[in-house]
Amino acid sequence: MNATQLAAREKYIQDIQRYIKVDEDKVGNLICIVPSKSNPEGLDDGAWHTVHCEDKTSVPYTYHCSCESFEYRRVECPHMKAVNAMYARIYKSNIVKRDAKIFVEAEEVKAKAAKHNTPEALDKSCNKELRETKVLKANNKGSTDLAGKGALNGATQSAEFWGSLPSRQKVL
Ligand SMILES: [Zn+2]
Repeated sequence: MNATQLAAREKYIQDIQRYIKVDEDKVGNLICIVPSKSNPEGLDDGAWHTVHCEDKTSVPYTYHCSCESFEYRRVECPHMKAVNAMYARIYKSNIVKRDAKIFVEAEEVKAKAAKHNTPEALDKSCNKELRETKVLKANNKGSTDLAGKGALNGATQSAEFWGSLPSRQKVL
């Protein structure tokens, strides 16, 4: 494709956007009806192509076109380009917001990683985990709710010990 043809195609992609009809297919998927190259004026009785769009994202994007070009080449055809350009225009603020959010999140992750992944920090977090394990064990031992813990450590408790518990004395 030479420069003149490329320019003509860009013009076609721009020009047909005003005729794009937004609809849904039989099962409720978002579709755009786009004038064929042979129908640059978007005449109702001219040729049209159906472009399927994914709309669960912040900006809808195309994934299929009924034209021959897409059928054979499986790459974004001019009809899909026109639809994507239309949505990029309509959802401009979403695109700006989304890109800004992605940038901020990436920077936050980078900053956090840089802060935490020092050798000292890794060492500290390891010690903290060990300390918490010790506290947890101490709590188990010191708990007054021994009857509830029976299933855990009953096997190591003597009958005498169980008999000395107030709740057991009542039963016995
Ligand atoms: Zn197409």
